[in-house]
Amino acid sequence: MDMQAPEMTKTTTPLIDSFGRQVTYLRVSVTDRCDFRCTYCMSENMKFLPKKDVLSFEELNVLIDAFVARGVKKVRLTGGEPLVRRDIMDLIGRISRHLTSSHLRELTLTTNGSQLVRFAKRLKEAGINRINVSLDTMDAGKFTDITRRGRLEQVLAGIEAADSAGLSVKLNMVAIKGFNDTEIIPMMKWAHGKGYDLTLIEEMPLGEVSRDRAKDFLPLRKVRDDLAETFTLDKISHATGGPARYVRVKETGGRLGFITPMSHNFCESCNRVRLTCTGQLYLCLGREGRVDLRVALREKGASGLDAILDEAMVLKPKGHDFDPSRQAPAIARHMSMTGG
Ligand code: SAM
Ligand code: SF4
Repeated sequence: MDMQAPEMTKTTTPLIDSFGRQVTYLRVSVTDRCDFRCTYCMSENMKFLPKKDVLSFEELNVLIDAFVARGVKKVRLTGGEPLVRRDIMDLIGRISRHLTSSHLRELTLTTNGSQLVRFAKRLKEAGINRINVSLDTMDAGKFTDITRRGRLEQVLAGIEAADSAGLSVKLNMVAIKGFNDTEIIPMMKWAHGKGYDLTLIEEMPLGEVSRDRAKDFLPLRKVRDDLAETFTLDKISHATGGPARYVRVKETGGRLGFITPMSHNFCESCNRVRLTCTGQLYLCLGREGRVDLRVALREKGASGLDAILDEAMVLKPKGHDFDPSRQAPAIARHMSMTGG
């Protein structure tokens, strides 16, 4: 089978969907496994994918090369927890050669922070400059509750290690009514005091999680209006290529982002696609449409990928449409599978 990476030097056709949006951002879930079981992300008894279905690093690398050859400029590694996949630095090393050659503008990752003490320096050395770390509460007991097993202290040490290694840190906080709404202001002050951006995220109905999400849904429009009573939120054009919309908080000097998949549909400027660890390419986080790149790769080798990527572009939907008042998941697969 031809596993050669596509040629990078020739001019290639960009990935453009039926709505004229160019796909320049690939999120790769390198594993669906995780050392935490966050209550909004997973059920208590998650069944993980059989290891035999998971792509090898060699296969993932060929797929990522195919996207880079078609004009993808940003790759984010996610999961599950990317830093629990064995030998992850091997994959990161392979991808980072595209940074050196300038075919890729940015390689980054989203992590729960539990392994950062071990990895922060190596990530920086591999050319990663920015990372997202999920942190929903600064209360140690609540942290263990929401992650069902995590230790806050370990994650805070990880964030500190990332900072010391020279990585820019952005914190992701899923806003949950009655759980962490009163912590938003203290978290923002703490994050901005440390020089970290903070992004608030609306919870999405992805996968069965043994909780009533609709009951705890906190619209960020309301959070923003409440914050605006105490703080001056100046709109800024800061863009990271992702879905967050940012303001500068005058009083703290820091940046605050809002990801509002539920209350505001940001799909019109979507530049993203998501690859799972088994090679399924999802064209939208909130829709079922996908193509199977693993089968394409294993049957036809790297040379068959261009054609299937073109097919995928036709499947990319205009947008998603979540209903915050519905209790049942809009999509059966968990966020840990598709990759956040
Ligand atoms: N394990 C890593 C982490 O927690 O950062 C990476 C994977 S996680 C699925 C990526 C992001 O998705 C995290 O910031 C997490 O808080 C967020 N997330 C998970 N489930 C979500 C949901 N149902 N709605 C909104 N965000 C969710
Ligand atoms: Fe794991 Fe991240 Fe999901 Fe939490 S949000 S269970 S850390 S994958």
